[in-house]
Amino acid sequence: MFAGSYHFFIVIALCYAILYLIDGLLKFWLGSSYVVLQISHGVKIKPFIITWFTSYFNRCIQKFGTWRPKFQKTWFSLGMWITLFCLPFAVYLTLQSTCALFINIVWKETKRTTSPFLKPVVPGVDLPISDVGYYIFTILICCIFHELGHAIAAVREGIHITGIGLVLFFIFPVAYVQLEGTESLSAIKQIRICCAGVWHNIVLTFLAYLILLFLPWFIYPFYEYGNGVQVTSIHKNSPLSAEGGLKVHEIIVGINKCRVTNQDTWIKCIYQVAKNPASGYCVSSEFIHENDESVRVRQQHNVVECCRNDSLSKICFEYLEKGDNPIELPQYSCLKARLVVEQSTASCSSAEDCSGLHCFRPSLANGTKLIEIERKNQNKALFLGYPNEILHDVHISEYINTTYFTTTLPNMVAKFCNFLIMFSAGIAVLNLIPCFFLDGQHITRLLVNICLGKNVRLRKNKLAVSLSITILGSFVLVIYAFLTFYSMFITLSLS
Ligand SMILES: [Zn+2]
Repeated sequence: MFAGSYHFFIVIALCYAILYLIDGLLKFWLGSSYVVLQISHGVKIKPFIITWFTSYFNRCIQKFGTWRPKFQKTWFSLGMWITLFCLPFAVYLTLQSTCALFINIVWKETKRTTSPFLKPVVPGVDLPISDVGYYIFTILICCIFHELGHAIAAVREGIHITGIGLVLFFIFPVAYVQLEGTESLSAIKQIRICCAGVWHNIVLTFLAYLILLFLPWFIYPFYEYGNGVQVTSIHKNSPLSAEGGLKVHEIIVGINKCRVTNQDTWIKCIYQVAKNPASGYCVSSEFIHENDESVRVRQQHNVVECCRNDSLSKICFEYLEKGDNPIELPQYSCLKARLVVEQSTASCSSAEDCSGLHCFRPSLANGTKLIEIERKNQNKALFLGYPNEILHDVHISEYINTTYFTTTLPNMVAKFCNFLIMFSAGIAVLNLIPCFFLDGQHITRLLVNICLGKNVRLRKNKLAVSLSITILGSFVLVIYAFLTFYSMFITLSLS
């Protein structure tokens, strides 16, 4: 659970409690006039649920639905075929995710883990509370865009819209559109309307992806992309913010010989350092003789220590000698870390890696690494500690500002696009599953009617087939939801 999550949810719950209280008091004081006012504006306030239903946008949608009818027919027909093409993939992804979750729970001890494709995002659990604004806003946009798809497609087919509704369940927004008389349309026209929502989500995902892809071009020359990452802030208690450490606005281009170009490579490089065993440094014997400041060798917390306890910039290095050579240097040498890094000609994992030189490896506790952070136009910053601390303490931007502009704007756009891609694609996949209350239920019913056609005469038999598929789909989704919350509960209870 992210820090501050409990406080956030308590604040939201309090807001609902205050709202519900004010609503109750107004009903008590103003009586029927207040209730009439609420009904006329389509507002309903219930515990943790706020509903708004309006016909205010009907004319606007009606107008849009009759704009360029030929283009719209092509648009929604194309959408229908693409959506139907995506349907088996959505079913596969849901089944894969359910099976992956099941395998992860059952075989978690044997590490036979596999990653589920669909992962629900819960604020406070797998999303920082600071991103809740993006979360609510993007879900709302995805839902509205989805419903507008249904509404415009319906108007195009001559269907009347009663209104559009917005529901806020705690912090989860949902939109819906109320249509009248869709049953009178042919099956193909109904499918076109049913698929329009998912089709709009597919388009929105693609648009967000394109914006994200071309963002470096849009913001050039004010920002650079692909040439490293820029430090935006450092945790004030971090050793990295101390003298000789990192500073805000500096550009990081590498970590321990791993090239950093953007956020992905930044994370990849840090994980690589954490995963790989600590490497040594190739230095000459003269260097060791000149700089060794070792004192009595001793064991401290299962680590061999040869430096004085107050030597902060010095590290005890272990000599990885060649098997056939007699030892000509001390087994442990206390050396200035920066000098070793600067004088070293290459990194090494054994003596054989240093031709004519000697391999010295830092003697450090398990998981602790000597990390070289390569900066643009500056010397390397050195960090001694756990690699994950860097990820936690140093915040970066993959968009490097070349002027005095802040890096906040491109990062906000990128984050917004990433959220749009994630939620819009998620809503599309979810709505394609033949499950009660989702578009998939209606699409399945209509597809079964078309496919069985005249071969199955009785309407109730076709209904039985589509109902069976929908029950099966709903069952899979319920299992998926159960497994997701169960694995989330396990993760939270272990943390
Ligand atoms: Zn829909």
